[in-house]
Amino acid sequence: MKEQIAVLKELQEVVLIRDEYYQTGDGSRMGEFNAKIDELKSKLSPQVRTIFERLYKRNHVAVAGLSNNCCAACGMTVPIANVQMVMQGRNLVCCSSCGRILYAADGDSVQNRAGRVDQEGKVGLERFSNVKLVIPDLKATERTEAIAELAELLEKNGAIDSADNVIAAAMAREEILSTATDHDVAFPHVRGVEGGGLTVAVGVSKQGIQWDGVKVHIVFLAMIPVAVSAYYLRFMSAVTKSFGKANVRDLVLAAEDAQTLWRLVQKHTRTELK
Ligand SMILES: [Zn+2]
Repeated sequence: MKEQIAVLKELQEVVLIRDEYYQTGDGSRMGEFNAKIDELKSKLSPQVRTIFERLYKRNHVAVAGLSNNCCAACGMTVPIANVQMVMQGRNLVCCSSCGRILYAADGDSVQNRAGRVDQEGKVGLERFSNVKLVIPDLKATERTEAIAELAELLEKNGAIDSADNVIAAAMAREEILSTATDHDVAFPHVRGVEGGGLTVAVGVSKQGIQWDGVKVHIVFLAMIPVAVSAYYLRFMSAVTKSFGKANVRDLVLAAEDAQTLWRLVQKHTRTELK
């Protein structure tokens, strides 16, 4: 069963990357992703495939790691006997609450302690960020440096445990498919972080950042717990919509300090980001 779980995890990753690409890409690579998804599905046993397809129809997040003996997707506590079965990896174990296929977290997830940033009742980006997590004048000139600058800011403010882990995970994701969009915005991110809520740092570069062959000026670095994987797709779409407008981009690029940038970001995500 361990092999099947490994296929499921890879399948999940490709599905989510394809979904992200669907939100912001030009569509030219959809066929490539769908072919990869079909190839991975063909490696599943008929029984596992049936369970996966049924879950997938309901929600594209069909597998979830165990986080402190809880299902990382719905948060429900998993009975200890089932936790042991997941750890042994001999049987397929589903969450009794949400039905997702559970797997043992293998220590590659990045700790995220940023739960306080996600503030209920707030609107716009204020739900996931704050004025301390924005940089109006990124020094970076290329992708890795920009991700590092923002990750270090998250670490400094206690939103993550290790900037180095986040940089490595975000770059691994970039290697699969660049997160730069055609709208001057890039969405580097780390998925499967434990605990906390969606947490986002924002950086603006006046001179522009080389991002795998294109130039971007605005960067949103996101830490994404499993439970908000589906919501993150809406986040990307809403942010692209707001910051894809030339007039908004010009204002953001002209912001001289963090306060001004934060006010602008707030203003222009207030209606789109729900
Ligand atoms: Zn669950």
